[in-house]
Amino acid sequence: MRAAAAEAARAGRRLALVPTMGYLHEGHLALLKEARRRGDIVALSVFVNPLQFAPGEDFDSYPRDLARDRALARSAGVDLLWTPLAEEMYAEPPHVTVSPGPVGTILEGAVRPSHFAGVLTVVCKLFAIAQPKVAVFGRKDAQQAALVRFMVRDLSLPVEIVVAPTVRDADGLALSSRNVYLDAAMRARALVLPRALGAGVEAFRGGERRAGQVVAAAYKVLGPAESSGDITTEYLNVVDAVTFLPSHAAEASSYLVAAIRVGKKRLIDNVVLGEGLDADPRAA
Ligand code: AMP
Repeated sequence: MRAAAAEAARAGRRLALVPTMGYLHEGHLALLKEARRRGDIVALSVFVNPLQFAPGEDFDSYPRDLARDRALARSAGVDLLWTPLAEEMYAEPPHVTVSPGPVGTILEGAVRPSHFAGVLTVVCKLFAIAQPKVAVFGRKDAQQAALVRFMVRDLSLPVEIVVAPTVRDADGLALSSRNVYLDAAMRARALVLPRALGAGVEAFRGGERRAGQVVAAAYKVLGPAESSGDITTEYLNVVDAVTFLPSHAAEASSYLVAAIRVGKKRLIDNVVLGEGLDADPRAA
């Protein structure tokens, strides 16, 4: 990857990187399309990063299918498929990692305390090796994207960050490699998540600007699901688009972010209040 990056730089070609953990789906493919628009050379990294999984999380069972990813990457026109090994990335447990700061401790960071340090550390390493001019991330993981933006700014990393909209299945469920963990019945129950976000958007469209009331509208959908089944809401908040901190005022740019458990499986999702769930064209 270093050699390919050096060659791209020599030839004056713009390298666009899409970092993933593989088991590719249409969401990843949309990021690759965006990367194609933004760069001359599209690099896709597939790396299930052990550092961002806590003990007891799903590192071992995380879905992997490199042959399938390779075929999808090829048909998506990826120029460089980069599949580093954990032992190449981490010769030993690292002494130095990237500290995500306060936004790394709320929402996802409150549920998964070491997660974002692991994410930012690997993203920093991927950037250091591939030296992309631009890197494309998904809005599905909006807090991650916000933290990557903070890291790039605070550590003066010379890379442009692009965040692409969430790609959903026809029924509204955000695509995720982890959706393979859901059987048909769980998947049907999981639809309560996009429906709740949609209810928040409806409240916003109806003129509601109090974040608490937007959350209440979404919880009107989640609450009954909680009491009648195996759904648990982990968090449900309106956050500012730039600071990613919970805000009292709901604005068009604000995110309504949520995480739920369906049985033992976790799902996260979010929506930009002024855009709604419909603004996610599959093949923009
Ligand atoms: P992952 O392989 O799940 O770590 O995701 C790799 C990248 O793809 C991240 O930037 C994610 O935010 C993005 N991504 C995951 N799911 C989606 C989706 N449904 N739509 C758009 N981007 C996504």
